[in-house]
Amino acid sequence: MTAALCLRRHGIEVDVYEQAPELREAGAGVQISPNAARLLHRLGLGAQLDRVGVWPDALVMRRWDDNSVIVEQPAGKAIEERFGAPYDTLHRADLHPILVDALPRDVIHTGHRLVDVEQNRLVFDNGAHVQASVVIGADELRSVVMGRPRPTSRLLPGPVRDPAQLGAQGAAQAIDDGWVLARCMAALTRPVPERLRLYEELCSRRVAQVQVGSRSTPGFPSVRRCPATATRPASTSTAPDRVIRSSARPSGTVHP
Ligand SMILES: Cc1cc2nc3c(=O)[nH]c(=O)nc-3n(C[C@H](O)[C@H](O)[C@H](O)COP(=O)(O)OP(=O)(O)OC[C@H]3O[C@@H](n4cnc5c(N)ncnc54)[C@H](O)[C@@H]3O)c2cc1C
Repeated sequence: MTAALCLRRHGIEVDVYEQAPELREAGAGVQISPNAARLLHRLGLGAQLDRVGVWPDALVMRRWDDNSVIVEQPAGKAIEERFGAPYDTLHRADLHPILVDALPRDVIHTGHRLVDVEQNRLVFDNGAHVQASVVIGADELRSVVMGRPRPTSRLLPGPVRDPAQLGAQGAAQAIDDGWVLARCMAALTRPVPERLRLYEELCSRRVAQVQVGSRSTPGFPSVRRCPATATRPASTSTAPDRVIRSSARPSGTVHP
């Protein structure tokens, strides 16, 4: 959705094909770190995000069994001052309509499950066929686009991301990627395959950078997995000490 928004911002025509019969997001919360929050603000979505976001004072990672702190880092005002954008936490069901509503209704085609890509021809399970000049696979881990041969170099699979190694950056990176892709595609003096190669190169570098950062997070290599059958000792609580929910962000200013 963010990629579509970013591409349209550069005057590039986009259609989004979604397999679900209707647009709705379930799931739980999502952290949107400043790298991505900044871009959503640049897309003009700041006011909507501020209405639904929550800005924690600190990010605290604890061990599942004894509640001891693995890593703690300040968030809230401190993080916004440092990075020029907030560390938003929000419910997915709140974020999704913000992105969807920012797109014209006729751009999104629900009930279209992609089953094959032949050259630049998309084949959907409902019998529809569409010819596209560039195909962007944003269908995540079990991607139909991923792994397809790219005879015309106009087929762009989404980057492979191991969620365990991305430090809660999956959605944030999807937002990052959309922005970078649109910037590359807007470089109209270059041939399209070259623009896509540039995107892939930048994106791979960024994924590597996030993985290295994630692995070097204090405590990351020694985080023990919670056994599937384990029960948490009754004495440990995971409830946060305090949660901010306000109608205005602590500082309210996002730097460009
Ligand atoms: C428990 C959990 C917590 C997470 N927390 C965070 C977090 O705090 N911060 C963060 O940044 N990231 C987080 N992530 C990662 C983040 O949710 C994902 O990386 C992000 O949603 C990926 O976005 P996407 O748009 O690329 O793919 P998705 O959100 O997976 O969307 C893919 C879309 O493609 C559609 N689709 C799939 N196949 C087809 C097809 N064949 N034809 C048509 N449509 C198709 C799907 O229906 C879906 O709507 C978390 C992930 C999990 C599982």
